[in-house]
Amino acid sequence: MSAWRRLLLKGYQVVTGRRVLDRLDELNRTQWWSRADLLALQRRKLHHLLSYAYRYVPYYRRLFDRVGFRPEAVLDDVAALRRLPILTKATIRANFDALLTTESRRRAHLSQLTTGGSTGRPLVFMQDNDFRDYVTADLHRHLGWAGWQFGQIHAYIWGTNFEVALAQSLRTRLMDWVLNRFVTNAYVLTDESMAAFAAEVRRRRPRLLFGYASSLYHFAQFARRQGFDDLTFDGIFSSAEVLYPAQRQFIEETFHCRMFNRYGTRDLGGVACECDAHTGLHASIENNYIEIVRDLESGEPAPPGETGHIVVTNLNNHGMPFIRYSIEDMGAWSTRDRCPCGRELPLMAVVEGRRVDMFRTPDGRTVWGGFASPLFGMPGVRRFQVVQKSLDLVVVRIVRDGELDAERLATIERTIHTALGEQVTVRFEYPDEIPVLDSGKYRYALSEVE
Ligand SMILES: [Zn+2]
Repeated sequence: MSAWRRLLLKGYQVVTGRRVLDRLDELNRTQWWSRADLLALQRRKLHHLLSYAYRYVPYYRRLFDRVGFRPEAVLDDVAALRRLPILTKATIRANFDALLTTESRRRAHLSQLTTGGSTGRPLVFMQDNDFRDYVTADLHRHLGWAGWQFGQIHAYIWGTNFEVALAQSLRTRLMDWVLNRFVTNAYVLTDESMAAFAAEVRRRRPRLLFGYASSLYHFAQFARRQGFDDLTFDGIFSSAEVLYPAQRQFIEETFHCRMFNRYGTRDLGGVACECDAHTGLHASIENNYIEIVRDLESGEPAPPGETGHIVVTNLNNHGMPFIRYSIEDMGAWSTRDRCPCGRELPLMAVVEGRRVDMFRTPDGRTVWGGFASPLFGMPGVRRFQVVQKSLDLVVVRIVRDGELDAERLATIERTIHTALGEQVTVRFEYPDEIPVLDSGKYRYALSEVE
């Protein structure tokens, strides 16, 4: 990055006490450590967090005492952590105040974050500066995996409050300049805003593009419609949503470059990301202790290759520690132990989808909403949403893109019947637009069945 930018960022860090650049250097070093050294580092950080939680966080003091758990136990065997119950969003809501640190020095620096919550009920989290520094640093480490260097120009299609509600503020504009990035708002991706964004891409030539899978796909569809064949990047990062193979192929072909799938959430930041070997997603185990469990009650670990519930203990957020937090996503450890890139951060297989996108069938089965994903890339379908209204009614909303023939509609109907059962009625609707959620994301499959 230019000397000016680096100097400004350093100055900003000195003034605010933030340490993003230090953390980035640290993560860029540890990613080359051996697996054994990484696990040892992770265990030390876990022990530190647990000790802190016992000392300063009332909820955990009570819990540890009740189940007879001692933080030192993880130094002998990290599996001792399984003695603690899994933390759910409902538990967080019910114990919000008791989950905050009582240490006044750290309390003074907590910032609030509200997630949209896929169930429609927002959830409030408090995050401390350490946590936020590591989140920002980890993101930039991942961008580096596409050959990008800190300070090189990059572009975002993003819609978090953090990035966008503040977009007009001087601070955000300054940070955009210092970090050399520009953003278009994923909340409102119109033909007009995408044309302006494409023009800016053409003019400023960002090395990377970063966005939600659905927003990137939307932008790629727009670029194809317009016949834009000259937009390209060194890499495109998809985050915060599941990236489906059909979407991925479409986006890669449109922009003539590889995609890097990244798994992260608003409440935890980055959890795992693909490197340039594209063999799976390297988990950021310096920042998180990650478990994949068969079910939330027993917490029994799922072996590599078996999809289970992702449970995360973030090792940096002491202000409001989440220990064994059920993130409500499904994933699997990769059966591949090593990556050709040389990094020994463990590999996760592709995350299969939000737990909430589950449909119920009249015969009592539960079906992952991802069955509808073949509609991505289907000719004639610009945008779609499959909504389970009741056990025997599914509504398919399609924003049409030119002709959509009867044969394709029959294919969609057949897909739904295969997934949910023959007796389910499928109703098609053709709205002009499908609104995105408050979070800027768009849900293509949702169930209104309790
Ligand atoms: Zn790798």
